[in-house]
Amino acid sequence: MSAEGTRRPRVGVLAVQGAVSEHEAALVDVGARTSRVRVPADLDGLDGLVIPGGESTTFGLVAGESGLLDAVRLRVDQGLPVLGTCAGMIMLARGIAGGGPQPLIGGMDIVVRRNAFGRQVHSFEAPVDVSVLGDPPVRGIFIRAPWIEQVGPSVEVLAEHGGHPVAARDATRIVAAFHPELTDDRRLHRLFVEGLGGSAAGTEHEEDTVVGAQ
Ligand code: GLN
Repeated sequence: MSAEGTRRPRVGVLAVQGAVSEHEAALVDVGARTSRVRVPADLDGLDGLVIPGGESTTFGLVAGESGLLDAVRLRVDQGLPVLGTCAGMIMLARGIAGGGPQPLIGGMDIVVRRNAFGRQVHSFEAPVDVSVLGDPPVRGIFIRAPWIEQVGPSVEVLAEHGGHPVAARDATRIVAAFHPELTDDRRLHRLFVEGLGGSAAGTEHEEDTVVGAQ
């Protein structure tokens, strides 16, 4: 590690539901420190935040009651970088197509459709070409996944499946309809962590110094 103090970014993982430990493992693999976010105070000192999948309505309900949803919205509006997967992507959308109102974090200029790939296809895998990740395609694990139905000018589509955007980013957010944390492919987490301005570069050499999640 170089002397000029490469600092490992601290990334919080919203620990309301979903694949929390899988995200933590992926983040540690790409050189981040992690901590779990359960109450608003857990957001202090974070360089980034991951919102895992799960059920967006449950998430909105639980986090709404505890005040966590408002606290996250405030920090995200202030520019805290976020990676949202599946339900996490839904939470960051500004709206939901064809659905009733439900509590969201919002802030990203996308409209998503929940459970978009059809009732009979609750879950499937498909190779997904993510433009900024190059070859090979990502192994996309879709679990009752949403797709993105509308994209505003501030948003760059990173991947499509079946003609529908399934990954995107804007200045501070990366979202995916699939679950990279359930694969060994760390490229999307690396893209996120490298964008935090911490020390993700060179993590390959630091592997042996990385300690596990708290
Ligand atoms: N179907 C879920 C929802 O609508 C998302 C599924 C997931 O996160 N794997 O919130």
